[in-house]
Amino acid sequence: MSTDWYQFDVIVIGAGHAGCEAALASARLGAKTALLTMNCDTVGQMSCNPAIGGVAKGQIVREIDALGGEMGRVIDATGLQFRMLNRSKGAAMHSPRAQADKKAYQFEMKRRIEEQANLTLCQEVIEQLVSTLQPDGSHAITGVQVRGNATYKAQAVIVTTGTFLQAIMHTGEAKTAGGRAGDGTTGTLSDSLRQLGFELQRFKTGTPARLNGRTIDYAALTEQPGDPDPQPFSFLTTAITQPQLSCWLTETNETMHALIRANLHRAPMYSGQIQSTGPRYCPSIEDKVVRFADKSSHHIFLEPEGYNTKEIYCNGISTSLPRDVQDQFIHSIRGLERAEIMRYGYAVEYDFAPPTQLQPTLETKRVRGLFFAGQINGTTGYEEAAGQGLLAGINAARLVAGAGPFVIDRAQAYLGVLIDDLVTKGVDEPYRMFTSRAEFRLILRHDNADRRLTKLGQEIGLVTPDRWQQFVEHERQIALAQQLLKSTRHQGITLEEWLRRPETEWTHLQEMSPTLAELELAPRAREQVVIETKYMGYIKRQEADVEKAQRVQSVTIPANFNFNGITQLRREAREKLTKVQPTDLGQAGRISGITPADLAVLLLYLKERGRLSPSAG
Ligand SMILES: Cc1cc2nc3c(=O)[nH]c(=O)nc-3n(C[C@H](O)[C@H](O)[C@H](O)COP(=O)(O)OP(=O)(O)OC[C@H]3O[C@@H](n4cnc5c(N)ncnc54)[C@H](O)[C@@H]3O)c2cc1C
Repeated sequence: MSTDWYQFDVIVIGAGHAGCEAALASARLGAKTALLTMNCDTVGQMSCNPAIGGVAKGQIVREIDALGGEMGRVIDATGLQFRMLNRSKGAAMHSPRAQADKKAYQFEMKRRIEEQANLTLCQEVIEQLVSTLQPDGSHAITGVQVRGNATYKAQAVIVTTGTFLQAIMHTGEAKTAGGRAGDGTTGTLSDSLRQLGFELQRFKTGTPARLNGRTIDYAALTEQPGDPDPQPFSFLTTAITQPQLSCWLTETNETMHALIRANLHRAPMYSGQIQSTGPRYCPSIEDKVVRFADKSSHHIFLEPEGYNTKEIYCNGISTSLPRDVQDQFIHSIRGLERAEIMRYGYAVEYDFAPPTQLQPTLETKRVRGLFFAGQINGTTGYEEAAGQGLLAGINAARLVAGAGPFVIDRAQAYLGVLIDDLVTKGVDEPYRMFTSRAEFRLILRHDNADRRLTKLGQEIGLVTPDRWQQFVEHERQIALAQQLLKSTRHQGITLEEWLRRPETEWTHLQEMSPTLAELELAPRAREQVVIETKYMGYIKRQEADVEKAQRVQSVTIPANFNFNGITQLRREAREKLTKVQPTDLGQAGRISGITPADLAVLLLYLKERGRLSPSAG
C-alpha cells in the first residue's frame, strides 16, 4: 500500500520525444501536468541517430512547430548541420534535415520543460497503472503507481515509454535487459497493461556502433558539408547562426560482406534469438547483405554526435552481430582501418500495443483517460513520436477541461495521415512516415505547414501571440503579392500567367513590374507565392480530390455502432469494422479488407437509419 501521493490533471510517463511534446502541450493548455521519467538525464535523448527530420519526417517537424510544439525550435538551437534534402525534385519532396548536437538537444529540451509553468518534471519509475471500474463495466484511469511506494493521481495518463516495455538488447549471443544501452526496462508496466485487457506484441529495432573520431582517417573519406544557406525548422527561427560541421561518406565492401555472411549464424535475427519484426526500410547491415546480395557496397554516413565530443555515429550499418565481428568489419572499411569503437551496435526487442486499440485522439478505447503515444504504438522515429505526443497531450488536456476531441484530417497534415493510418490500419512492422503514405502530398509540403496548421493551433490555444502576429503578417504579404500578380499585365498577359511558365523567375517579374520590384516581401512569402503559382494546376486538382474525400468523410458513424447488426455486410467486414470502430465512412473505407461494396452497404444502412431516426446517434 503506497503512503505518498500527488495530485495532477495529466500524467505523462516517459520523457522521450513523445513525452516531452505531450507534457509541454498539456501544461500549455492549462492542465497541471507531471512528466515522470526513469532518468532526468535522458530527457529528449536520441536513442539512435543524432538527427532530426528527413524525407516526410522534416514535414512532420514543421507541422509540430506550426501547432506550437517544441521539436523544431530545439533542433534549430542545437543542430550542427542543416540540409534540405531532395532540392532537385519538386517542392512537395523538399525535406529539411539536421544533424543534432545530441547532448545540447537534450539539455535544451530539458530546460524548456523545466521553465514551463504548470509542468513538473520528476524522476520516477512507473510500475503500475491505476484505474477504477465504472458502473457501465468500463475502466477509467485514476493514476499511476511508482517504484518506492508512491502514487500519482490524475484524470488522464499518457504512456510514452518508447522501446522500454519488457525490453531486451542483443549483441551477438549476449542478451541484456534494457530499452536502450545504459538504461533499464519495466516489465511490470506491460503486465499492468495486459491486466487492463490490452493486447501487446513485439517489435525490434537496431543501432550501429559509435566510433572515436580521433581514430578515423578523414583524409580517406568524402566530405559532406551542410547547406551554405541553412534553413531553420521553426517558423519562429529567423536564422541558423551556429557553425556547421561536416559529415563524411564511406562505404561497405566485399571483404566486409563476406565476413558478415560467414558470421550470420551468430546474428540474433538469423540464429532465431530474435523472432520479432524490425523496420524493413531501415535494415541492419546483415539484412542488407542478405537481401541485396548482388550489391557489392552500401553507403556509410559518418555523423558527428556533437560539437564537444569526438564520438561519431555510423549511419547505415546498424547491427547486432557479436563484438568481435563488429571490430573486424569496422576495420575493413575505408578510412576506419584504425577506428576505435566507443559503443557497440545492438538490437532491442520490446513490447508495443497495436494501435487499432486507440481512438483518433490517441485515447485508448478500453480505458477512459488513458492515452498512448510514440513507439509504444508501433511507430519508429523521433518525429513520428513527437507528433503523436503533441496530439495526445492536446487531447488529454482537453479531456480534463471538458473540451471536445482534437483530430487532424489526412488532408491537413502528415500528422493526420500518421494517426489515421495507425488507428485504422494498425501496423505489421515498425511504422515510419513516407511521402507515399499521403494521398495529398502536393499540398502537405514542409514550406506551407504554418499555412495549414497555425490557425488550428491558435484556436486550441497553443500558438503564442508573437507566432500569431508573424503568421498574420506572412499571410498579408502573400495576399498582396498574389493580388498584384493577378492585376498586373505585361505584354497582354498577367504576371501570374507569366510566373506559371517554367522558365519565368521572380526577378523576371520584377523587371516587368516596378510596383512588384518595390513590394516589401519576405523571402518566405515570396517562396509561397512562387510555389503556389507554379503548381497551381496540380494543387487545384488535389484540392478537388480533398473535397471529394471530405464528402465521404462527412458521413459520420455513431460511437459504439453495432456493425454486427447489419446482416447484409460480409462477416469479415463486420469483424473488421467492429474492431476499428471507424468514426466516418472515409475511415471505414481505409480499413484494409473493406471493399467498395461493403461501403455501399454501410452507406445505405446509415442513410436509411438517419431517415428513419434523425436523432439516432
Ligand atoms: C537501439 C535503438 C535503435 C533505434 N533505431 C532507430 C532507427 O534506426 N530509426 C528510427 O527512426 N528510430 C530508431 N529508434 C527509435 C527511436 O529512438 C524512437 O522512435 C523514439 O525515440 C521514440 O520516442 P518515444 O518518445 O516513443 O520513446 P523514447 O524516446 O524511447 O522515450 C521513452 C521514455 O520513456 C521512459 N520510460 C520508459 N519506461 C518508463 C517507466 N516505466 N517509468 C518511467 N519512465 C519510463 C524512458 O526512460 C524514456 O525517457 C531506435 C531506438 C533504439 C532504442
